[in-house]
Amino acid sequence: MAGIYLHIPFCASFCTYCGFYSEVCPRQVSHTRYIEALGRESAMRRGFLEGRGAVKTLYFGGGTPSLLSADEFRAIRAILDSVFDLGAVEEFTVEVNPEDVVTCGDLLPALKQVGVNRISMGVQSFCERHLKWMNRRHDVSTAVGAFNKLRQAGFDNISIDLIFGFAALEDGEWSDTLQKAVELSPEHISAYQMSLEAESTLAELAAEGKYSEPDDETCARQYALLQDVLQKAGYGQYEISNFCRPGRHSRHNSAYWNRTAYLGLGPAAHSFNGTDLRQWNPASLEEYCSALEAGNLPEGGQERLTPDEIYNEQIMLGLRTARGASKDLINQPGILQDTGDAYRIPRDKFFICDSIIEDYLR
Ligand code: SF4
Repeated sequence: MAGIYLHIPFCASFCTYCGFYSEVCPRQVSHTRYIEALGRESAMRRGFLEGRGAVKTLYFGGGTPSLLSADEFRAIRAILDSVFDLGAVEEFTVEVNPEDVVTCGDLLPALKQVGVNRISMGVQSFCERHLKWMNRRHDVSTAVGAFNKLRQAGFDNISIDLIFGFAALEDGEWSDTLQKAVELSPEHISAYQMSLEAESTLAELAAEGKYSEPDDETCARQYALLQDVLQKAGYGQYEISNFCRPGRHSRHNSAYWNRTAYLGLGPAAHSFNGTDLRQWNPASLEEYCSALEAGNLPEGGQERLTPDEIYNEQIMLGLRTARGASKDLINQPGILQDTGDAYRIPRDKFFICDSIIEDYLR
């Protein structure tokens, strides 16, 4: 199987902590130039997934895909249909911003029309003070309203993103956020520890001495709370940051962790051929569009993985999942748990997985 990822590099405003590549772009601005470039890139990269099996997952991430208009979603779907065989696609995810869901009347019908069957919504917190500090566009009632609107529109596979481990977050507030998330009953929850991403406002604040990260002990406690609350609410943890109702794991992201081939389209998008080649586009809309307008593929970079690098990827990706890494890869399991055909990091050690994984790398 294979997957296709599309990077939509536009945001209406920037969030404090974010380091993803994106351009500030109000909703009403047309994205025609980007979409035309996407059409050219799709045609030129048509062969990348040949021999890699049917395309099973589509994922539009960003940036903020929900800034695109209904017509633009239809145009992109038509481009993809004209180049790739999407007849076997099982999961089509689009990331949305709660405010767009609530304010754009034609967004959800358009997503349904183009075949989207999974929504990933960036909620991040159910605390007004934290949402403001993060410079998110939505408030708590908008997030709840957006979730309900998605349900009314018939979306039955919704993921929400949450963030913990930032200085202003107290354990009680994190517990409240988790309770509110569980009350909405999404099929999937991703929860990430805030980090200092290069190019983010938060990293600048930290460099100026205006922000300090919470200590490891606090983050570990909040992570344990996350595991506990979600487990009690019936969410299985299938990766260090991902939890879901039975059978509702993200097929697209699971394919990344299984080292399945995927093609990334759009500025800053990465691709992997399923064996030893990773390549990426430049993180610049201007560079991306002008290269394609001149008839060339945009040049970001690429790397051929050595056998040791492939091994390390298999270990790193496998051990971050509850499934674990194949027994064929590990001679001395040490503190790892035996699951039958694999070794995994015990659930209560997931928080320190990076230091555990180091011991198994070449
Ligand atoms: S978190 Fe999402 S919405 Fe916020 S700046 Fe980053 S990509 Fe844009």
